Amino acid sequence: MTAYLITSVSVVGAAPTDLLIRDGVVAEVGPGLSAPDATVVDGAGLVALPGLVDLHTHLREPGREDAETVESGSRAAALGGYTAVCAMANTSPVADTAGVVEQVWRLGREAGLVDVQPIGAVTVGLAGERLAELGAMADSAARVRIFSDDGHCVADPKLMRRALEYVKAFDGIIAQHAEEPRLTEAPRCTRVRSPPGSA
Ligand SMILES: [Zn+2]
Repeated sequence: MTAYLITSVSVVGAAPTDLLIRDGVVAEVGPGLSAPDATVVDGAGLVALPGLVDLHTHLREPGREDAETVESGSRAAALGGYTAVCAMANTSPVADTAGVVEQVWRLGREAGLVDVQPIGAVTVGLAGERLAELGAMADSAARVRIFSDDGHCVADPKLMRRALEYVKAFDGIIAQHAEEPRLTEAPRCTRVRSPPGSA
């Protein structure tokens, strides 16, 4: 059994009080608490908040373990007060199958620091052409409920409609990268300027 007594901490911005945590659960809140078995942490000047959730995280694994891993990202999240992170799908390979999302989910469990919830791709390879295995990802051990082609817009309205209809069956969410590619593509022609002094 682990116990922590955080003293004089402002719980969600309220007046300072004491907070007793036993086995990771808030057991008591109130001024002047005592718990001889607890490790005392001075919380003066600090604010206690519920665990934060990051809905848009890039853990880079699999594929770019040189930049970040599920373990290192989990560690950074925990240090920042996050208890859950949603891992974006633009890994290599892309998280567009049950196999990849389960891998990320399992690595998160193994790291054991925060809840790592994989976000599945909406389309195969984030390419915006064919729907990814939305149902298989939802049914997998990772229980994916959020899908996004993060960084890429699902620009085909018919494909988006099918994705929205599909995820309705299991109360899923499609998070769109809101960018209309026809308005943001590079200009087709470059203006050539005459050199100075020329006619
Ligand atoms: Zn992103």
